[in-house]
Amino acid sequence: MRLFCPTAQLNSGWMHTDARKVDNGSLIEGDLCIVGAGPAGISMALDWMDSSHRVILLEGGGFEYEDQMQELYAGKTTGQRYFPLRSVRLHYFGGTSGHWAGYCSPLDPIDFSRREWIEGSGWPISRQDLDPYYRKAQAVLDLDPFDYDVSSWQRKNPTWNPLPFDESQIRNKIWQFSPPTRFGTRYRERILDSRPIHLYTYANAVEIVANESVREIREIRTKNLAGKELRVRAKHYVLACCAIQNARLLLASHNQAAGGLGNGHDLVGRYFMEHVETNSAELWLAKPDSLDMYMVDYGKSKARAELAIGAAFQQEQRILNGTCSLSPLEVARSHKPFIETWNEDDKEAEKKMRLGLLRGRISSRTASGSGRYKGFQVFTRLEQAPRAYNRVTLDTERDALGMPRANLHWELTALEKHSIRTIAGLIGKECGRSGVGRIRLMEYLRDPKDSSWPSFTGAGWHHMGTTRMSTDPAQGVVDANCRVHGISNLFVAGSSCYVTAGAPNPTLTLVALSLRLSDHLKSKMAGRA
Ligand SMILES: Cc1cc2nc3c(=O)[nH]c(=O)nc-3n(C[C@H](O)[C@H](O)[C@H](O)COP(=O)(O)OP(=O)(O)OC[C@H]3O[C@@H](n4cnc5c(N)ncnc54)[C@H](O)[C@@H]3O)c2cc1C
Repeated sequence: MRLFCPTAQLNSGWMHTDARKVDNGSLIEGDLCIVGAGPAGISMALDWMDSSHRVILLEGGGFEYEDQMQELYAGKTTGQRYFPLRSVRLHYFGGTSGHWAGYCSPLDPIDFSRREWIEGSGWPISRQDLDPYYRKAQAVLDLDPFDYDVSSWQRKNPTWNPLPFDESQIRNKIWQFSPPTRFGTRYRERILDSRPIHLYTYANAVEIVANESVREIREIRTKNLAGKELRVRAKHYVLACCAIQNARLLLASHNQAAGGLGNGHDLVGRYFMEHVETNSAELWLAKPDSLDMYMVDYGKSKARAELAIGAAFQQEQRILNGTCSLSPLEVARSHKPFIETWNEDDKEAEKKMRLGLLRGRISSRTASGSGRYKGFQVFTRLEQAPRAYNRVTLDTERDALGMPRANLHWELTALEKHSIRTIAGLIGKECGRSGVGRIRLMEYLRDPKDSSWPSFTGAGWHHMGTTRMSTDPAQGVVDANCRVHGISNLFVAGSSCYVTAGAPNPTLTLVALSLRLSDHLKSKMAGRA
């Protein structure tokens, strides 16, 4: 059966099909096919609402969480202790935005530059290239306008007093809070009501099929647990399934290209990155303070600051970029690190955690903001150096749809530990110089020769890399426009295209990057690119 986004449906403004209910083997045709309806895919789709092109949005799951869909994400992890792959992302319409906490901040200009002390650093685009799209992304994420200027937030929050540090060394970097936008509920009606967009739920992409020369994609095959298969044909295809799934899908599409599509240089799945998120020190103030500016105070403020490290200091010390957040010790101590509680072995605990996160933000980082404290926990979020051996590969075991499961290997290096220690040391030095108080480095950071990691070392559920961007096909999977090298009509949206991670949580930047890709595709379809 051939489905062609029929006119009757176009006029009705109700463009949704449950792929379990179509005839087996149906062919769907459109102009643009976006695979995955999380923040990356939905942001792009929203940008095509007024288009005359037919957009097919394929979502593997339905509109609600289902255990059997989530099970398709299960996989093995090796290396540094990590969360279970089954539960680090959500597999239904809206994607992992059903879990996210809404912390947003843009990457710094230095994050895009080539830093000779960090192998593999250097994006082919600059922060300026992303700025117009950051502005648009703010609205998609229900944030205030694109304003990350500290003094302007201080004007809005008169109780904000910055720590008196040398700003050339330690500056205050603003994080804005999304409500957090749950894409699955926030944009569901808009997507369903949109004429150009046709959403297919329960349409899991399982194979990307290229033409004989492997220079162009011919179709995408989808499957579901009801045993129905669909074939989807479009002029252009965008993978927006998240960093692990994008790599998994490319690697599993190996019928025409040994090793998978776009993998001529054995790069697909490699350079996976996470944020190292861990307690690093205690800050003891000389005088109790509320440090309002640094607190997460949801009812009152839509932003907070973290301590960020100046670019010149990063260069001088040859360290990675990272920021430090502060929370009162009595609040921080009342929460176990997530890496110790987010554990699939205990299904009930995992379920509670999931439900808790769906309802609100991560409470371990919240503080009343009204009390005055002497002791604060210093919590560091650090980019990880891109390393080829940190990677997503395919397992021999298959999921219920016959897709090889994903394996993740993730390791940290001495550079990450050295960077965390150096950043905490700098804060200590500035505390002493300014008379603010003292820093007590955590035990595991005291020996500079030790590069082991304590059991509580955590990560941010931030998956980046795996289809990294480079103008050189030997160095990256996608080019500066997020097109897979060597394939004319296959693109990737999301944080899998990141070259380096920067310190901020990834969603604002990945939405901006997806909107930039959207613009590029519009120009291409209009014959301008
Ligand atoms: C607990 C938690 C807290 C977080 N907090 C923050 C935060 O505060 N700030 C921040 O910036 N980020 C945060 N994140 C990360 C954030 O959720 C992700 O960066 C974001 O959701 C990634 O968007 P995405 O669209 O690329 O991927 P996803 O959100 O994972 O969406 C991918 C979509 O693709 C679908 N899909 C997957 N495979 C297929 C397939 N084969 N065929 C069809 N569809 C498919 C999925 O069902 C899903 O809908 C957090 C994550 C977690 C888990």
